[in-house]
Amino acid sequence: MTSTYDAIVVGGGHNGLVAAAYLARAGSRTLVLEARHKTGGAATTESPWPDAPEFKVTRLSYVMSLMPPTIIRELDLERHGYKIFPMGPYYQAFPEGGSIKIFADDAKRNYDEIAKWSKRDADAMPRWDAWLSGLAEVLGPLLLTVPPRLGSRRPADLVETLRLAWRNRGLDVRTIADVTRLMTMSIADLLDDWFESPQVKGAMAVNGVIGTWAGPCEPGTAYVMAHHSIGDVGDGHLGNWGFQEGGMGGVSAAIERAARGHGVEIRLNARVARTLLANGRVRGVVLEDGEEIVAPVVVTSLHPRTAFLDHVGARDLPDEFVADIEHWKTRSGVVKINLALSELPDFTADPGTNQQEHHTGSVEMAPSVEYIERSFQDAREGRPALRPFSDGVIPTAFDKTLCPEGCHIMSLFTQWVPADWSEEPHREELEAYADRMIDCYDEVAPNFKASILHRDVVGPYDMEHEYGLIGGNIFHGELSLEQLFHMRPAPGYANYRTPVPGLYYASSATHGGGGVCGIPGWQAAKAAIADRKRGALAASLHRR
Ligand SMILES: Cc1cc2nc3c(=O)[nH]c(=O)nc-3n(C[C@H](O)[C@H](O)[C@H](O)COP(=O)(O)OP(=O)(O)OC[C@H]3O[C@@H](n4cnc5c(N)ncnc54)[C@H](O)[C@@H]3O)c2cc1C
Repeated sequence: MTSTYDAIVVGGGHNGLVAAAYLARAGSRTLVLEARHKTGGAATTESPWPDAPEFKVTRLSYVMSLMPPTIIRELDLERHGYKIFPMGPYYQAFPEGGSIKIFADDAKRNYDEIAKWSKRDADAMPRWDAWLSGLAEVLGPLLLTVPPRLGSRRPADLVETLRLAWRNRGLDVRTIADVTRLMTMSIADLLDDWFESPQVKGAMAVNGVIGTWAGPCEPGTAYVMAHHSIGDVGDGHLGNWGFQEGGMGGVSAAIERAARGHGVEIRLNARVARTLLANGRVRGVVLEDGEEIVAPVVVTSLHPRTAFLDHVGARDLPDEFVADIEHWKTRSGVVKINLALSELPDFTADPGTNQQEHHTGSVEMAPSVEYIERSFQDAREGRPALRPFSDGVIPTAFDKTLCPEGCHIMSLFTQWVPADWSEEPHREELEAYADRMIDCYDEVAPNFKASILHRDVVGPYDMEHEYGLIGGNIFHGELSLEQLFHMRPAPGYANYRTPVPGLYYASSATHGGGGVCGIPGWQAAKAAIADRKRGALAASLHRR
């Protein structure tokens, strides 16, 4: 028997859940189909050690920042369990001795910390912060803007392009120049323009390469830094990040509760195999077991290759669109290492296993731009990094729900292994890579290795095969210049619509996406709701 809904959402990651919640809130009978045994996708909390189920890790994504307050408010996420602990400072202990802390909201302490390494850099920091805030004021609203179809001569598209130009009419020559620099420069070159000390530049470079198949010397990495600096967890501090209580799965769970509250149905272990079309329009989906489910609206939140090439098929798509999706760049070389610790790291530079401020933020292994660049060059040359870089966090500094009292969870977001490791498991080499990563921390915190009770190493192959992150890219596609704004995921289709009428696109591979922000899900639902209203209006005018 065929079931019928008003809307089907393919994929129960956080974007699929946001789209479903908005569709149901607007009155659509909505079904979410999720292939895994649980929702959340890359925003998931799991217990990876069967003999120690009391330890829970945020297995892939690990910190929040980019979710717009509008989504939090409209879906009433706080009532449903969305609760963020703002993170402490950025912290790096240097192998050659000493350490640095950088605070999101304490200019005085930043000055003292940075002046330890360079008085000139300490003087430059407030100007850098102000400069970045100014740019975030331009880029932040752009994240929520539906990209126009640049180049189209259709009157409606021209109106959208002009509207964007009008909204940005206040920009002056300097601001345009700064945005151009940000979009085109490498983070290494940009930092050289502002700072002199290797320690400070290393600290500032990390955000430029998170999830990116590009070292800090590659053009475009300055923008990746900005993307990771725009967010605001709602406490008013630009670029500050926070930990969700219960791990990132807690964010998905809150959205799921909101969605269910609006009447959304969710089916787990329901892998979609194909999108059904009829007369060039979407008609529904077919599950792997052959079951057909029908709806006039389908929102897909999967990787573009799966959503379009596998589920719709090249025959039913325009050739140019197919070529664009075939050429979509989706590499990362990221390895996530989740650890259960018996005690906190005891840094030589800041001794003690008692919880201190430097345990509460990001605990980095990125001591210089050259160090980060070397780890990328290793991977580009086809080898896993000899000394990988890591963006580490210890969420249990705040969140006591993840493990037994006295123990801790540490999450290491590390780079790089070769991009083609998504094709084979490379199990033994991944474990050796994790050993080297742990050794790097052990050099600066000599109790580290011995404190590890359990470890879980998730490489690009696992990300692709367990979670559908093709190529292991953490954002369903690289945040490189040619894949941003009106090009994300393909020119002419950045407005959350697709070449197939009735099929909408809500994955992180759309503009605004990349990160647990819900923007793609929100925008795709808004597009579907607007088209439905337009269709209803046209039908009623036709009847008159
Ligand atoms: C290691 C790692 C670290 C990250 N760290 C951060 C971070 O700290 N902060 C941050 O903001 N972002 C981070 N990100 C990025 C962020 O997690 C993703 O951009 C975001 O979660 C993607 O959400 P989504 O809903 O678009 O897609 P997904 O989360 O990929 O959801 C897609 C869903 O579709 C399901 N699915 C796949 N195929 C099918 C099918 N055929 N039928 C039905 N269902 C299917 C999948 O199981 C999945 O649940 C990280 C990502 C990774 C991998």
